[in-house]
Amino acid sequence: MAAEGDGPAILVTNDDGVRSEGIDALCEVLKELGTVYVVAPDRERSAASHSLTLTHPLRVEKLAPRVYSVDGTPTDCVNLGVNGILRGKKIELIVSGINKGANLGDDITYSGTVSAAIEGTLLGIPSIAVSLVTRNRFRFDAAADVALSVTRRVMEQGLPEDTLLNVNVPNVAKKEIRGIRLTRQGKRVYDDLIVEKRDPRGRKYYWIGGDHLRSEDVPGSDLEAVEQNFVSITPIHLDLTNYAALRTLRKWDW
Ligand code: MN
Repeated sequence: MAAEGDGPAILVTNDDGVRSEGIDALCEVLKELGTVYVVAPDRERSAASHSLTLTHPLRVEKLAPRVYSVDGTPTDCVNLGVNGILRGKKIELIVSGINKGANLGDDITYSGTVSAAIEGTLLGIPSIAVSLVTRNRFRFDAAADVALSVTRRVMEQGLPEDTLLNVNVPNVAKKEIRGIRLTRQGKRVYDDLIVEKRDPRGRKYYWIGGDHLRSEDVPGSDLEAVEQNFVSITPIHLDLTNYAALRTLRKWDW
């Protein structure tokens, strides 16, 4: 194990906030691979997506050696971390997580956790997002193990250009995990997404996000893998072009 403060610089962030247990679990294992810096939001910013704060200043607080909180989004944290707070240090790798909740299928478009890895990728730094597939009773031990081995592998091999890894780990005991599957992005089915209620003064309010989440059957998908207690690793690229559609559209008479 590298002594604390030695080795390549690894930046850890998340969208659950700097005080989330998922960050602690990740830092604990990653310090085996290098010097771990944390730059994370000062509060939960789940579903912040890839938003960047441009309309007001950002404040940074140093909470402990190499641990910083920012009153911004996960994307702000990566950008500010790499280009500001840690400028001059060569960040070798960014790991975002361990998120308290899945980032599977279409949900990754909302995800602050995945977006932090997107920002890292845009900055040319190999980036990994790690999420725990549950809504409660989080158990980070297996996910931390997976994060360590995936990070180690990426440090050895690098990543293909323009690509991040979206890792989702079932919330089960280590021995119940059946292995790793390399997967494609699946399809969520959203039911009862809007909850409508009345406040104590009789006015309606709405809450986005119903409880019953299903998925379409997509063979080889991230959702299928975690349902079967496999770790899912999906390579995500930032080129959003739909090449099949491009071929179709080129045949149109424009
Ligand atoms: Mn989150």
